[in-house]
Amino acid sequence: MVAYRNQFLEQMAVLRPRMATYEGESMEQVVLPNLPSNISEIILVTHDESVFYANDGITKTWGPANEHQIQRKSQGLSIHVSEFICESIGHLCLSEEDKVMNDLLPNDERIPYNEAYVTHKDFMKQVVERAIPIFEQMHPGKTALFMFDNSCSHNAYANDALVVLQMNLKDEGKQPLLRDGKMPDSSVHIMTFVDEDGIKKPKGIQRILEECGLWIENLQKKCESCKLHIFDSTNEQYCATHILSCQPDFMSQKNHLKEVIEAAEHICIFYPKFHCELNYIEAFWRDILRFARRSERFMSAYAYGLLGRAAIFAVKKYWSHRCVPLSILYEFGHLNSSN
Ligand SMILES: [Zn+2]
Repeated sequence: MVAYRNQFLEQMAVLRPRMATYEGESMEQVVLPNLPSNISEIILVTHDESVFYANDGITKTWGPANEHQIQRKSQGLSIHVSEFICESIGHLCLSEEDKVMNDLLPNDERIPYNEAYVTHKDFMKQVVERAIPIFEQMHPGKTALFMFDNSCSHNAYANDALVVLQMNLKDEGKQPLLRDGKMPDSSVHIMTFVDEDGIKKPKGIQRILEECGLWIENLQKKCESCKLHIFDSTNEQYCATHILSCQPDFMSQKNHLKEVIEAAEHICIFYPKFHCELNYIEAFWRDILRFARRSERFMSAYAYGLLGRAAIFAVKKYWSHRCVPLSILYEFGHLNSSN
């Protein structure tokens, strides 16, 4: 963990001179980096996702003083939000003019609108079809530094990635069709073969190692430490999984997010695990929840017919509530007690 954090800090130290700094009391003064014309400015774009529940943060209930109040156990309805924020424009979204222009484009050229992003596939779609094109529209000629939390879903590999985990020792059985790799002499290593029925099939670990001249007779698929997912290069116990995963083409396999972002010539970095304080979007989520509650109080105040300063007063007075209580109307004399 510490090693990854140090590596992360080193990467950031290298990239920081290419980024603008923000000065002044409200951080509105932008100091652009002084860069040679062939080096692009980097804009930090941070991602995070959060799930908001209808009963989030509700610790108080209201009712008769002599009755024991039962708190809701369920979290209530939820919405899953996956969001990008950047230092330059805040929310990563098109400008109002660009939105109008985007709407005029034919369907297949248009940046799609927000859809439900739940699975890894949806998330990749959000990155490829929205985040990258919107960034490029809003920051022509600049490089995005996309930063993600170090979660399992962000570490997922493409289906054809050079990863040993889902491979079998022999050619048979269900295993993914892998993309081409590299032979020890750097020539192309095709990871599939065509069987006697003319069907393309994946090669197993043994055949791939044999073709590289690395197969040792009676090699088992996984040794004890590999079964426990401990990949230690100094490990004395050798197994087929271990040998193949140490080959340069398998070693250099990047996860899917890094692949698509780097293919678009942007940069992708993962925050160190358990360091959510490094991701400033965390503070944004905390605030947004507070503002969501505030909006709900305004909605209830308006629903009771309170306007202007009366609504602001009610929203402030009942800051700890999700809704403004109906009794507020007595305070303003909108109702008398016989109503
Ligand atoms: Zn092993």
